Amino acid sequence: MLVRLSKSFRFEAAHDLPTFPAGHKCRRLHGHSFKFDVVVEGDVDPAKGYLIDYGELKAVTEPVVRRLDHYYLNEITGLENPTSENISVWLWNQLKPVLPLLSSIIVYETCTSACEYKGP
Ligand SMILES: [Zn+2]
Repeated sequence: MLVRLSKSFRFEAAHDLPTFPAGHKCRRLHGHSFKFDVVVEGDVDPAKGYLIDYGELKAVTEPVVRRLDHYYLNEITGLENPTSENISVWLWNQLKPVLPLLSSIIVYETCTSACEYKGP
């Protein structure tokens, strides 16, 4: 039984986007209430009846959230250009080594705008 599970996380952070055109509003320093989903996928062991404990997703992801929450993202190594696209790749790179079932990362910069990264 192949299943896909997700757990959502939130953080508040500031950024500016240096590759946007001069005068674009995203060039100015501003903040977001970011949300992202950690999506895992795999086969359920019939004897267990579940894929992974959601608590395990929380345990491996919360240290990563603490590196982002209430920071200026542009100052974080690897996030000098913190677009949603680059944030989703950065999150993938942090989580994949400790979460082999990781299937995708979905970053919501606003309630209506999201970027999904499914890995290399
Ligand atoms: Zn922004």
